[in-house]
Amino acid sequence: MTDKCRCGRDAAVYLHYSRAHMCASHFMRMFDKRFRKTVRQFSMLRKGDRVAVGLSGGKDSCALLHSLCELKKDLPFELVAITIDEGIRGYRSRTLRIAKRECEQLGVEHVVYKFEKEAGRTLDALVKRDGSALPCTQCGVLRRYLLNKGARESGADKLATGHNLDDVAQMVLMNIMRNEPSRLARFNEPLVKNSRFVRRIRPLMLTPEKEDAVYAMLKGIELEHAECPYAHSAFRSQIRRMLNESEEKYPGTKFKVVNSFLEIEDALRGKYLKGAAVAECSTCGEPCSGSMCMFCRILRP
Ligand code: SF4
Repeated sequence: MTDKCRCGRDAAVYLHYSRAHMCASHFMRMFDKRFRKTVRQFSMLRKGDRVAVGLSGGKDSCALLHSLCELKKDLPFELVAITIDEGIRGYRSRTLRIAKRECEQLGVEHVVYKFEKEAGRTLDALVKRDGSALPCTQCGVLRRYLLNKGARESGADKLATGHNLDDVAQMVLMNIMRNEPSRLARFNEPLVKNSRFVRRIRPLMLTPEKEDAVYAMLKGIELEHAECPYAHSAFRSQIRRMLNESEEKYPGTKFKVVNSFLEIEDALRGKYLKGAAVAECSTCGEPCSGSMCMFCRILRP
């Protein structure tokens, strides 16, 4: 027998943490409601904002773009999508195609920043040059830098990224296991208040990754299942496995990790961000904590 939603229709999804079967229509309503609640709870958007969306073309960023387009019907703001092409052979070109198509269909302005043009090298070339460095670390630094630059150059007030509940739970555990609480303090705040930083918002931070996939499927968004060839090397993969196993045994674990972090976030900020020194990178002028930013450090000969 097919499981039923509370409305009597066939269920499209089962949410194990709330033990609820939901039909497509109730799921979409719940998804949108939670999205809007998160935006409100963290004062992420204001009428008239110009919002840059980091759009990789994966399920999370496409779900984010669609949800923002829905929200825009009630709260007028401008949208521009930014895709970063890291230069990963056989991987990024497919999601780039999806990103382009989604923007065309939704009528959203779309710009692409390439590692090759902006940093002088593709990620593949960087990995080849420095075999000992972790690809995801280099990729993350360059991508964050270019997203911020892209948002600023697009005149955006906010930079929205598709980080979901799973990403945030992983980030919390990774920083704890690396003994880097000061990084946790910076999650919602840059190291320093600086006009060159565009404020980041993560409207899907309380949405489980699986639900982004269901939402994207129900919206008819093409899903790309190929994994980045460098993904296996990440410490994150280990943490992801651990969290997924815990979630399986103890439903709601990911929500609990993230909610615990949000409870102590203010205390962490008070301890680690008060009086943080303002410095500018001696090479590119971007704000950073030392004399040279990570972007320039990675790219120096
Ligand atoms: Fe970059 Fe790592 Fe993500 Fe691949 S898995 S896109 S290298 S951060």
